[in-house]
Amino acid sequence: MKYIDEFRDGGLAKKIAARIVREVDPRRHYHLMEFCGGHTHAISRYGIPDLLPSNVHMIHGPGCPVCVLPIGRIENAIQLAQQAEVILCSYGDMLRVPTHRGMSLLKIKAQGADIRMIYSSTDAIKIAQQNPQRQVVFLAIGFETTTPPSAIVIKQAQALGLTNFSVFCNHVLTPSAISHILQSPEVRQFGWVPLDGFIGPAHVSAVIGSRPYEYFAEEFQKPVVIAGFEPLDVMQAILMLIRQINEGRAQVENEFTRAVTYQGNLKAQHLVAEVFELRRAFEWRGLGWVPYSALRIKAAFSDFDAEKRFQIPALSIADNKACECGAILRGIKHPKDCKIFGTVCTPDNPIGSCMVSSEGACAAYYSYGRFRQTA
Ligand code: SF4
Repeated sequence: MKYIDEFRDGGLAKKIAARIVREVDPRRHYHLMEFCGGHTHAISRYGIPDLLPSNVHMIHGPGCPVCVLPIGRIENAIQLAQQAEVILCSYGDMLRVPTHRGMSLLKIKAQGADIRMIYSSTDAIKIAQQNPQRQVVFLAIGFETTTPPSAIVIKQAQALGLTNFSVFCNHVLTPSAISHILQSPEVRQFGWVPLDGFIGPAHVSAVIGSRPYEYFAEEFQKPVVIAGFEPLDVMQAILMLIRQINEGRAQVENEFTRAVTYQGNLKAQHLVAEVFELRRAFEWRGLGWVPYSALRIKAAFSDFDAEKRFQIPALSIADNKACECGAILRGIKHPKDCKIFGTVCTPDNPIGSCMVSSEGACAAYYSYGRFRQTA
C-alpha cells in the first residue's frame, strides 16, 4: 500500500537504527520530546525505544487532545448535558474521561442524559436539524487539526439559520503549549526535564505549516523536526534531530514533506481566522493556565457560542491526587512512575485522562510497553 507499507519496512528501520547508533555521541544524552499523541502511540506500538541507544530518551509531550482538557471544562460539559433541553454531541474518547467526582459523560449518559457519540462535526448539525425543539451542543476539542471542521459547522449553522445549534469551543494551539513547556513558571513547581529537541506534530503541521515552529527553534535554540506517524518517519526524525544537536544547529526541518509545507493549508487557516480568535489564557490539564494558547468563537458568530448561550461558568478543578497526568503531560514523569498505573488505573477503568485515548501516554504504554522491561 503506497505511503504506508514503505514507512513500516523493518529492514529500513534497522538501517536507520544503525545510523542512529553510529551518529550518537556516547558522551552525551539526547532528550527528545514528541509533542503529538499520534507519535507517542507510534513510538510505543512499534517499539521504537528498543531500537535506540540508551542515551537517546524519548519524552512524551502534551499533544493528546483528550488528555489536555482540564476537569473544569469536562464538568462544564457534564452540567450542560444534564439540562433537559440539551443534546450534547461528543467524540467517543471524551465520554470516558473521569472528573474529580468520579463522574464522566458516559456515566451521566447511563443515567439518562442525552449524549450522542459522533464521528464528525457535521453529524452534530444533522442532529440539530432532526431535533428542532432541542438545543444541540457540539463539544469541540483538539488542536489545529480539528479546528477547521468546527469553523465549517459554525458557518454551516449560520447559513442554515439554525437557532438550536452551538459549539462549546475548547480548541487549543500547539506552538503556545511547546513554548510554555520551555519557559513557564510552573517548571519550578513541577520540576524540569532537559529537552534537546522536538518531533513536530504531523496533522497539526499539515494545517499550520512548518513556519510557526521557527519562533521557538530560534528563541529557545531547540531543533524541531516535523514527522509523519509511521515508524520510519519517527526514526528518520530522531536521526535528523541527533544530527542537528551534534552540529549545534537549532532549525525547523520537515521530514513529512509528503503532507506538510512551509505555509500550511492557507484555506483552512483563513477559515479558522474568520470564525475564531485567541483567548488571553486557557487552562490545560498538566500545564495550568497557558497564555494565548486557545481559541474562542468571534462575536460575529456568538449565536453559535455555547459559552454565551448557556452562560457556562469558568471552573478550575484539581486532578485526582493519585494521578500523575500533570507531570506526564509535561514530560517530567513516565507512566510507570504513577503508583496506580496498570493496577487501579487501566484503559477499562481510567483514573486520569492519559489512560483514556490511545494517544495518551499511559494508554499507549499500557497497551504496548508495560511488559517490555520484564519480557
Ligand atoms: S496511570 Fe492513570 S492515574 Fe496514573 S498518571 Fe496515568 S492516567 Fe493518571
